[in-house]
Amino acid sequence: MEGVELRPDVRLPSGSVPWPFDRVRDGQSDFLLDARRTVAEGMHLLAHAPTGIGKTAVALVAALDYALVEDKLVLFLTSRQSHHRIAIETVRRIEAKGPRIPTIDLIAKHSMCLQEGAPSHGRAFQEFCDFKVKSRTCAFFTRDNSAVVAAVLQRTLHVQELVRASGACRVCPHRVAMDAAAKSRLVVCDYNYVFSEIRERFLPRLGRSLDDLVLIVDEAHNLPDRIRAHLVGDLAVMDLLKAAKEARSIDGEVAHELLGIAKSMERFLTALPSERIARKDEFLDVVEAGLQRKGGEARGYTAFVEGLAFAGEDAVRRGIPSHLPEVADFFVRWRDQDEGILRLVVPGPDGKFAFRLLDPSVLSRSVFDGIHASILMSGTLFPAEMYADLLGIATRRRVLRTYASPFPRENRLLLVSPHVTTLFVKRGKEMHDAIAREIGGIAAAVPGNLAAFFPSYELLGEAHRRLRAAHVPKQILVERPE
Ligand code: SF4
Repeated sequence: MEGVELRPDVRLPSGSVPWPFDRVRDGQSDFLLDARRTVAEGMHLLAHAPTGIGKTAVALVAALDYALVEDKLVLFLTSRQSHHRIAIETVRRIEAKGPRIPTIDLIAKHSMCLQEGAPSHGRAFQEFCDFKVKSRTCAFFTRDNSAVVAAVLQRTLHVQELVRASGACRVCPHRVAMDAAAKSRLVVCDYNYVFSEIRERFLPRLGRSLDDLVLIVDEAHNLPDRIRAHLVGDLAVMDLLKAAKEARSIDGEVAHELLGIAKSMERFLTALPSERIARKDEFLDVVEAGLQRKGGEARGYTAFVEGLAFAGEDAVRRGIPSHLPEVADFFVRWRDQDEGILRLVVPGPDGKFAFRLLDPSVLSRSVFDGIHASILMSGTLFPAEMYADLLGIATRRRVLRTYASPFPRENRLLLVSPHVTTLFVKRGKEMHDAIAREIGGIAAAVPGNLAAFFPSYELLGEAHRRLRAAHVPKQILVERPE
């Protein structure tokens, strides 16, 4: 396996961060030693480690131990709310035995916003919040939050607790979290905070640079796809027509130009025989043709996009729900983004121009080159070398490891039932009955407790209703979406 060996003689920090549980389990000790050495040596550990080994505790102890001594900031990156909870609970256990670790739990800004009627997500929310902040019309943002910041730094809180505390004092929870994060040693947040354009605002706000960071990437097998999802764009004729309608009350010229581009694009897509890779200049030409005016002087691509972006900001300022910022984004990215990008054109009435990021290392290579160290972990990070290549992690800094399951082989029986499926097309009353029967049968036969996992809350609800009605001989605990 490609990768470097860690030096056995590397000096490890003093170990001021205690182990949060009674003992280090079999399988955890190798992982813990590798993680400590990786962070001390400034490397990147890609750990293919099975479920149940206790990855969160290993990564947090190793990273925090170094960060507290060397004034680094640990970012625990996860996309799952349940893993936010596990990370915070683990920190609380560490604190119960050792030093206080200033920690902030952070989720997407739009999910923390207190403004009623704010756009629910995406570019529109960002524009909305930026405008509120710049124009000083968000009272939650302008109000003095120093007391709340001081309070949330006293105790490690789940993000929901932080939002409640901020809401009670009428101050913006995201601002509280960011102000407190600047004084923290650990921030639990989504991948986006590092692997998207958000990083350019996030790190300066914390007063940190890349080399101050030790990253823990939870469920790291998801990272390449999450990065790719940032550079995706689709533009159909219908999007342009909708945008033109929205723009009509804001900027007549932009609305007229959007209609012209929609017509030009429709002509192009109708004449196209089949889907194929597109050239950058094909779309630019379609736009330029759409901007032409009989006998008058037309704006060029760049001036039009500036006008469109301005109309989008104006819509947000006036509180009009708008797709104009997203459409403007497509025009900018099609023109400016080249590296690792695939451009496509699809013909016909539902046709479109589209672009996709194929190579995630375009965005992640500079991060891994710049940060102090990282621990990437997952139960399915295999082959680790492939993930290291995909993410652009330098060969001389990558440490690739596979750890054995801590559970005895006889406890890892895998059985597949050929009679049930959660396939969407097969769902229905009979299948729900069959799934509940299978679970009920296993519950009756197994002496201890039992955990059942479902791909959706809807399926969970169907099974739960039936199991309750069937009076299975065990107490049932159910996870709720909230
Ligand atoms: S500053 Fe905070 S409360 Fe105000 S709009 Fe932005 S996220 Fe919402």
